[in-house]
Amino acid sequence: MVYSLCAFSRVLWYTFGMKIRFLSFALAFAATPLLAQQTPQQIADAELPSLLTIYKDLHTHPELSTHEERSAGIVAKELKAAGCEVTEHVGKYEKPGLTCFGVIGVMKNGDGPTVAIRTDLDALPVKEETGVPYASTVMTKNDAGQEVGVMHACGHDIHMSTFIGTARALGKLKDKWHGTIIFIGQPAEETVGGARALLKDGLYTRWPKPNYVLGLHDDAEIATGQIGVTEGYCYANVDSVDVSVKGMGGHGAYPHKTKDPVVLSAEIINAWQTIASRETNPHDDVVVTVGSIHGGTKHNIISDEVKMQLTVRTYKKEVRDVVLAAIDRIAKGCAAAAGLPPDKMPDVKVREDEFTPATYNNPELTKRLVGVWKKALGDQNVEMVDPTMGGEDFSEYSLPDHSIPAVDFHVGAVAPEKIAEAKKTGASLPSLHSSKFAPVPEPTIRTAVVGMTTAVMDLMRK
Ligand SMILES: [Zn+2]
Ligand SMILES: [Zn+2]
Repeated sequence: MVYSLCAFSRVLWYTFGMKIRFLSFALAFAATPLLAQQTPQQIADAELPSLLTIYKDLHTHPELSTHEERSAGIVAKELKAAGCEVTEHVGKYEKPGLTCFGVIGVMKNGDGPTVAIRTDLDALPVKEETGVPYASTVMTKNDAGQEVGVMHACGHDIHMSTFIGTARALGKLKDKWHGTIIFIGQPAEETVGGARALLKDGLYTRWPKPNYVLGLHDDAEIATGQIGVTEGYCYANVDSVDVSVKGMGGHGAYPHKTKDPVVLSAEIINAWQTIASRETNPHDDVVVTVGSIHGGTKHNIISDEVKMQLTVRTYKKEVRDVVLAAIDRIAKGCAAAAGLPPDKMPDVKVREDEFTPATYNNPELTKRLVGVWKKALGDQNVEMVDPTMGGEDFSEYSLPDHSIPAVDFHVGAVAPEKIAEAKKTGASLPSLHSSKFAPVPEPTIRTAVVGMTTAVMDLMRK
């Protein structure tokens, strides 16, 4: 019995000891590929099916600016699941009575730099005509009470999915970086004011002020799988200006008894075009567009007033100052030349509440990230792109003096064969904000996750 017990225990040890050793060997063997899997590329691959599901859901359920409740809820839930401390309803709009659906997620990983990344949350009042199976059929009332279709026609659903994918990847790669990541879910990009609302609510005081800020936007001209970036200014200062040109109305047949604001407005509009051609350095980009003009009621009446709405685009602050001053000076100068008295000078109002500053991609940071992306995605998949005179309130995060280095890069979203076909036929591709803009979700989201994750890791590497 003793012997047999002893023999039994030996058999037991042999059997289970072997089993345990085999088990640890098997575990180690199985863990090797798991550990080797910890690259941003492989995590992006593994997360892709789930991110595509999230993307399609967000695409089907778009929400207009300042109404992003559902989208913000999804982003908040996913950030929490990825390991962030999350605060919802962040942001204070200038306009009272509006709830701000800003979401801030903080992922802490010891001492080190602070990097912020931003996604926007909102969609546009556009009726979708892409024909994709997950197309939006949402109709809603806009703030003016009109019934409008709603669509993610700017691809902010791509941005949100990428943002969630990046949080998941960085949560899994904590052994490779240190510091604090601030995930900014920003409402109201399309109507402008979301970024400002978050900053006003203490984005850089309630949470750590970042050393770097990164953002991305999908691109309707770049091939999916590729990243494009601009060094220096990439989006413009956007100013809205309201102008009221006064006249002294009367009968259309007796113009000599009037001061005609329509003729005067025509002169002012032409004279404004000399600002870019004669007043500013030809190397400085300037656009003065009169987007709206209204005056008069009837064929034979010379009116008392003409109203105009302008959009003015510049890059540098000093150029902006010169251009806005010139718009005012030229309007008043033309009115004086037309013989209008001082109390009938045009009224020129720059809408400071609607101003969006230019987006400036810090050149050193841009160069550094181009190197990172070429390594992660291949040289052929990273291109330098021209700046545009469009606007983006991402610019707010680098502060007016650009003291926080920031980069907002482009992620291609178009099937390469569509680009080739457009080149061949000369037809233009659906642009951002078009009812037919249908970004290719994959590999766009994968490329964006890899691009953002590798950028953050480079800035925070151990
Ligand atoms: Zn847009
Ligand atoms: Zn956009």
